[in-house]
Amino acid sequence: MERKNLWAPWRIKYIQSLSEGSDCFICHNLENPQDDDKNLVLWRTDKSIVILNRFPYNNGHLLIAPVRHIPDLEKVTNEELLELMKLVRESQKALSLAIKPHGFNVGMNFGRCAGAGLPEHFHIHLVPRWDGDTNFMSVCSDTDVISQSLTELLEQLKQISKKHNLPDL
Ligand SMILES: [Zn+2]
Repeated sequence: MERKNLWAPWRIKYIQSLSEGSDCFICHNLENPQDDDKNLVLWRTDKSIVILNRFPYNNGHLLIAPVRHIPDLEKVTNEELLELMKLVRESQKALSLAIKPHGFNVGMNFGRCAGAGLPEHFHIHLVPRWDGDTNFMSVCSDTDVISQSLTELLEQLKQISKKHNLPDL
């Protein structure tokens, strides 16, 4: 079976920004609630934040992170862990209603060598999948995966959240 490689040219900006030693964008977003729409923040809860990935592997790629700037699971409290996993569930609900994925990948990367773009601030990746796309980290060879603008999707997810009272923690 032919395996197609990821062609996600928008990710180069992200990769370049990492080498420039940019600050933690999760903390930046947390500290600037007035820019939530611009920063693609979907939800804020007591201990966590849910953000649409600006450099997605697939349409609807969400990042779910604790408020605390901590690097890995060892530092995550039980309360945070519970809320983070509930948010994975609630995010799946919202995405299912919005864009009807056929499946999901849920993933965590620890350390730069393991592919973590932001190793300093723990986050869970939630990536919607559809029949016919290829493996996680190696999605289709065309840009149609990002056919829906991020802003449009954020708005759609917000309306769905309101209608269905999500996240239900
Ligand atoms: Zn941070």
